[in-house]
Amino acid sequence: MIRPGKIVCVGRNYLEHAKELGNEVPKEPLLFLKPPSSVIGMNESITLPSQSKQVEYEGEIGIRIGKRIFHATEGEARAAIGGIVAVNDVTARDLQKSDGQWTRAKGVDTFCPIGPVGIPPDNLDTLTVVTRVNGVERQRGVAADMAFHIPMLLAYITTIMTLEPGDLVATGTPAGVGKLAAGDVVEVEVLGLSLISNSVAAG
Ligand code: ZN
Repeated sequence: MIRPGKIVCVGRNYLEHAKELGNEVPKEPLLFLKPPSSVIGMNESITLPSQSKQVEYEGEIGIRIGKRIFHATEGEARAAIGGIVAVNDVTARDLQKSDGQWTRAKGVDTFCPIGPVGIPPDNLDTLTVVTRVNGVERQRGVAADMAFHIPMLLAYITTIMTLEPGDLVATGTPAGVGKLAAGDVVEVEVLGLSLISNSVAAG
């Protein structure tokens, strides 16, 4: 996996996930960043930091940008998609709640496992993400159920910042998030396109 220049993430993009944490789906996409230093690849370990007692997986559909876009239309954004990747937006849920903003909760080294790049399907709404912990399915989400769909999200991001080749957009997690413990193996798959598997280690 080539490290992205930046990782732009979307919060609360599935109604059922927003509800499970007591939130509403926002009126506009809710954006945040993860640092490129959080990226790990296949079979590397997610390390639990000492500051958190509640580290959770968030399986997500990731978009790898193939072409520079700024102030893009949805059509231009669609054409700029270079590939699809499985992403685990690992989150220290307790720090996310206590800090108010999410840099620490989302930015820990090893908190962004990314799978290999798959070819985008003709119909992005069919993209399906599944998360398994120790082989048991915990999350399943379909892009058709997103509050804000992928071309809209990409176009929206480019009203703020340029998206460049190699950048990654993580499109939000479906319902079913849960805690990870040392010794767990967590796997995120965008069905048929990209799979990332990582073990969890104590810090
Ligand atoms: Zn997320």
